[in-house]
Amino acid sequence: MLDSEQGKLIVFSAPSGSGKTTIVRHLLDKDGLNLDFSISATSRARRGKEEHGKDYYFLSPEEFRDHIEKDEFVEWEEVYANNYYGTLKSEVERIWKEGKHAVFDIDVVGGLRVKEKFPERTLAVFVKTPSIEEMERRLRARKTDSEEKIKERVAKAEKEMEFAPRFDVILVNDDLEKAMAEAVELVRKFTQE
Ligand code: ADP
Ligand code: 5GP
Repeated sequence: MLDSEQGKLIVFSAPSGSGKTTIVRHLLDKDGLNLDFSISATSRARRGKEEHGKDYYFLSPEEFRDHIEKDEFVEWEEVYANNYYGTLKSEVERIWKEGKHAVFDIDVVGGLRVKEKFPERTLAVFVKTPSIEEMERRLRARKTDSEEKIKERVAKAEKEMEFAPRFDVILVNDDLEKAMAEAVELVRKFTQE
């Protein structure tokens, strides 16, 4: 059991469709890593079977703004037009109080902000697909987004790729099994330092 001063932050960021959610889920299922998922707040609508307090804290735009005004976010971002996403300070504190390390699945700008706020305690990982074409193919195969949303995500990906060199590690997700095993090793090493 860690005390809350020893809790770390492990950030996975990437353009949508790169596989970060798949990799993060694998890490959370793995015994012995002592991780908990940092549940973000968002003003976007719920999708499918998503649950409040599990996938996201779903807030109204007014509630989201209220948290911004009270300076209650570690970072927040308008990731897509009119859709706000952010990490509440209370969320990171909740995880550290449990004696765990916080794992993030957040966009590239948010990921770098977390690293800036907690430089020593954060491992920032950029997940990269072999190409943008492959990323687009995965988004289509996932079947969760409209054609319009896919186009929006692909258009954004090129800009997001430029942020990759600012991360601590670039994890190439070509062979998923290999990428997941590498992620486990990265986390193991960083949390034991
Ligand atoms: P993100 O969270 O970055 O948007 P996901 O984890 O949802 O990405 O992955 C996007 C889709 O690609 C999912 O359907 C996932 O099962 C699939 N996927 C993930 N990694 C690979 C891989 N290495 N090869 C092929 N498909 C993959
Ligand atoms: P989705 O709508 O597909 O769940 O997420 C859209 C994007 O928002 C993804 O790139 C996801 O990583 C990002 N995101 C989720 N939570 C946060 C957060 O708390 N902060 C930031 N900056 N981005 C987030």
